[in-house]
Amino acid sequence: MNHERTEISTLGEFGLIDHLTKNNEIKNASTIVSVGDDAAVLDHLGKQIVVTTDMLVEGIHFDMMYTPLKHLGYKSVIVNLSDVYAMNAMPQQITMSIAFSNRFSVEALDEFYEGVYAACNRYNVDLIGGDTTSSQKGFIISVTAIGEVAPDKFVKRSGAKINDLICVSGDLGAAFLGLTILEREKKIFLETKGVQPNLENQDYIIGRFLKPEARKDIIEFFATNEIIPTSMIDISDGLSSELLHICRQSEKGCVLYEEKIPVNDMARQFAYKLEIDPTACALSGGEDYELLFTINQKDYDKIVAKSDITVVGHITEKDAGALLITKGGNKHKLTAQGWNAFV
Ligand code: ADP
Ligand code: MG
Repeated sequence: MNHERTEISTLGEFGLIDHLTKNNEIKNASTIVSVGDDAAVLDHLGKQIVVTTDMLVEGIHFDMMYTPLKHLGYKSVIVNLSDVYAMNAMPQQITMSIAFSNRFSVEALDEFYEGVYAACNRYNVDLIGGDTTSSQKGFIISVTAIGEVAPDKFVKRSGAKINDLICVSGDLGAAFLGLTILEREKKIFLETKGVQPNLENQDYIIGRFLKPEARKDIIEFFATNEIIPTSMIDISDGLSSELLHICRQSEKGCVLYEEKIPVNDMARQFAYKLEIDPTACALSGGEDYELLFTINQKDYDKIVAKSDITVVGHITEKDAGALLITKGGNKHKLTAQGWNAFV
């Protein structure tokens, strides 16, 4: 490990930007002018453009006590790419703006950018600019992602139709459990200095929280199989909150089956150990960055064999409301917190 500390002041602002972007390589034909001028120039040649931006603030969105800088750089790109994929679009470019205090060294920013470049390389996205400034307290990250989509093939939250199938990618709830372990160990560490964290070999759930992936593969699967979901959203706040967004914006109701909700086995076992309901983790946990989407029933044959896509329910008329059918066969009204037991 490199324990040197280079003060940012030895480079200055422009020197720092140069340093952070000196190995930046362009991968996409749509990127005409990248870092180094007053603005980037893009040419998306007949495609439609989607733009999304997200801000991450230390102490609100991440805790530096248990978030390695490289993971933070990676995740701050991923959360934005996930929003682009959720429009059925392919991200091409990002900008990265950062504000940091003098607590940060050049080496710390290098680590952060290692994660940024790792995500850009993995998802074939160009870093085309950003901004660099100081903050009195805390690290602030703002990423904008730009993606392209064939004309009118973008997918909104509002297109779900009655009898459409509700589908999710991957598994849900694990990221919340990962966060729960990290928070628990932080608390123990602060109360009893010197105690080494006990992460209980829960690599899967901790990885799901610290180093999420965006579902590029699912968007590619849609393209190959000529599927256009009728509505889509990425799962950043938990399944119930996202499904309610789709229902509200589509002016529909839904039926969600608890027994269909995909939860990883290790995550489920660990939830039981902590005496947390795994379904509650999936419904309200958040940060899974999976995709929630609806498809016409005629497309069922195309997704049935895909192990990474699970049908969890169907769309109903608005007046039927948003319902969760539990494993015991009870009907509950779905709420953003999970479900309301008093129906
Ligand atoms: P300006 O004064 O026009 O805002 P800057 O000096 O802030 O220009 O930025 C110079 C170039 O470096 C621009 O292309 C900008 O997009 C890019 N840039 C600035 N900060 C970052 C960063 N943290 N990461 C990547 N590119 C950056
Ligand atoms: Mg600037």
